[in-house]
Order: sequence, then structure tokens, then C-alpha cells
Amino acid sequence: MSTAIGNALWSPLAHMPSVLAGGRTIITHGSGTHLTTDDGRELLDATAGLWHANIGHGRPEIAEAAAAQLQRLETYQSFGSFSNDVALRLADRLAALSPIADPRIILTSGGSDGVEVAAKLARLHWQLEGRHDKVTILSRADSYHGLHAFGSSLSGPDIYRDGYGPGTLVPETALFSSTDIDDLERRITELGADRIAAIIAEPVIGSGGIIAPPPGYFERMQELARAHDILLIADEVVTGFGRTGRWFAVERFGIAPDMIVTAKGITSGYAPLGAVFVAPRLWKRFFDGPDAPIYRHGVTYSGHATACAIALANLDILERENLVERAAELETVLVRELEVLRDQPGVVEVRSGAGFLAGVQLEPEIPGDRVAAVALDRGVLLRVIRGNTIQISPPFVVTEQEIALIVRVLRETIEQFADRARPEDEE
Ligand code: PMP
Repeated sequence: MSTAIGNALWSPLAHMPSVLAGGRTIITHGSGTHLTTDDGRELLDATAGLWHANIGHGRPEIAEAAAAQLQRLETYQSFGSFSNDVALRLADRLAALSPIADPRIILTSGGSDGVEVAAKLARLHWQLEGRHDKVTILSRADSYHGLHAFGSSLSGPDIYRDGYGPGTLVPETALFSSTDIDDLERRITELGADRIAAIIAEPVIGSGGIIAPPPGYFERMQELARAHDILLIADEVVTGFGRTGRWFAVERFGIAPDMIVTAKGITSGYAPLGAVFVAPRLWKRFFDGPDAPIYRHGVTYSGHATACAIALANLDILERENLVERAAELETVLVRELEVLRDQPGVVEVRSGAGFLAGVQLEPEIPGDRVAAVALDRGVLLRVIRGNTIQISPPFVVTEQEIALIVRVLRETIEQFADRARPEDEE
């Protein structure tokens, strides 16, 4: 661990005294599934960073696409009637891939940004329809939707919205159960459908613990949304662009959303970028006639040309190397390898089979952060997410042997801690 540089950096979601006392893991190079630290350690990236490095790290083709774009035009903004050729090409390409028919695409600088775009557009839609009370947005109790104002209010855990003074950042938000869809119906009855603008949901909950939808969950959500004129927003920031073995998880889980929020996998993390896919029901009024309203939202880097060039190169790689199909195959391998952990002492639950991502929930007496630290010492970079759960979501270019290695290191590490946690008289 190195403490030599970077004392000025205030890290996201970090207890800074511990970070500074323990030192950071500083990554300096990446290639495929491997990362190298400043002190020369080789690590296997078992989570694709924050679920973003889907095509793997350090791909020369992306570097070349970025360099070529920077030499021609770093960017030009897309406000009003200006844009740049790359943003336009990317939007068309995304529209062609879209599970929403004939969408319009709003480009953003990331996932939290996309959640703001979708939430504000949902509210604006109902205001323009003259249904002025339809302002509340519902989300699932274990969800994560980023940490801008809407996201902080919509993400499940209270920790994200508490402490900022009285009230919630966006008060017109409410939670319902991630697994019991009847709770959504109760919530709608309680609040009144004429007060609800939209429901936002991750097809597979990511940071909240890797939770697949129970059978029938989304079918019912969709019925309720249709019956009560509530918009449906799919947050595919984690699942979009292949993570569930389909280009978009809504295709796998039979969801027909009005908007899809994406980020991460759109560039595999090579540049900060996101895209919101918007259905005709929402965009049409903004595109027609002299009295068409204006959606007054946008950021400087909407359609950033170099980020868009990187996204196009990333999509080329995903297509050319059939990496979405590969993710589907790798899901089967991961599910099979994880079988050994199901009866492992110290493991509460293995959650897999909803895509190429899995969560291994540990007993409370097995400290997830220590497990991850020991695995890191053994060269496997894992991550602890909500509910003492270990996240596994490697890049789509990982080998079967590397998956086996990830699971073996995790199993042995858990074993080590489970032995320690066991009371002596049981030994
Ligand atoms: N939605 C989901 C489902 C996410 O997992 C994340 C980030 N992990 C976000 C939104 C926020 O994205 P960003 O960090 O790019 O703002």
C-alpha cells in the first residue's frame, strides 16, 4: 500500500482517515482482465471495476479511436442547433440497438446524470399533460440510482439521503419492496395513482446486493404501471450493453419501459458517458410544431465527441468479438463454479443466474471487507457491496480458468475466516 501521493484527493464514499491510515491501492496499468499497481502487483479484476470494464482494460483500438478523434476535434457541444458528427452517429447507432422502438437518445456524462434526465422528464411529461399532481417517483428498497439529488432520494438506503438537513433532497419519492410486488400495489393505493409520475427499477439490482427479480415481479409491475398511467424507467446503468447476456436486460426480463438509463458499459469505462433512451410516447410532443415545448436540461458534455468516438469503438468491439453472447456463456460458467460455495460455512446465499454477475452474501461474523483484502493480497480484486455481499462481475473477456481462480480464492478466503469465527468448543 502506498501513501506517498494523492493526499489531496477526497475519495467518493470513503472514510478518509481510514483511507489515509491504511493507504490506497493505486492502479497504474490495465490490460484485459489484469491490473497493475504502483508497487508492481498484478491483480485479476473480478468486478470489472465498478461494473464498467466490460471489454477489458487497455485495449489499443479504443486508445487509437480516442487519439484520432482528439486530433480532429476534441468536442463541440450539442446545445440548440449545434452538435458534432460523432454524437449524431452514436445516437443513431444506439437507436438501432434500442429495445424501445423508435427512441430518441439523450446523451449524458454518466449514470447519476441519466437518472436526473429521466426523472425530470417523467415529471415534465405529466405537467405538460396537465396532470399536475403526478410528481412522485417510486423506487425499490434495495436499489441504487446514483447520488445526484434524484438518485440520493431514489436509492434505497437512508444513508444516501440522511444528514443534509430537514426533508429529503427530492421529497416526492417513495420506496417499495424489491422482492414483494404486492407492496408496489399497496404503495400506489396509499399514495394515489394520480400522484405518481414514474417507477424506476434496475432489472437486476446491482450495488444493492445483486438481486434478481422474483418470477412475475416485472410482469406485475408493468400491469400496474399501465393500469395507473405510471411511467416505467429501467435503470440499466449496470446491466446495459451485455451484462445479462442480452444487449439490454429489459429484453431478458420482458420489460417494456418508457425510458432506459445507461452509462458504464456504453464505453466500457474508457470515457465518462451515458445515454437515456426515450420512447415516442414521451419525446413526440417535443419534436413537432412551433409550440413544441423545450426540455431545459443539458450538460456541457452531452454528446462529448471523444467520449462518443470511444463509445462507437466499444460497440464495434462488443459486436465484432460477440461479447454479449460471450457474457451469456460466461454466466453459465460462473453459476457452475459458484455451486461449491452454496454449502460453504460462512456463506448465507449465493445469488447468481440473472446475468454475468453474482453476489456471495457472507454471514455477519465474516467481515466482507477483510475477505476482500485477503483476496486482494492473493491477487484477486473483489468488492464488498450492500449486505456483506461479495460482488463478482468480471470483464466479458475473462477466461473460464480465471473464473475458476476467482471462485477458488474466494472460497479459501471465506474458509479461513469461517474457521476463525467458529467457537472453540465446536472445533
Ligand atoms: N444506476 C445504477 C444502477 C448504478 O449502479 C450506478 C452506479 N454504480 C448509477 C446509477 C450511477 O452512475 P454513475 O456512478 O455513473 O453516476
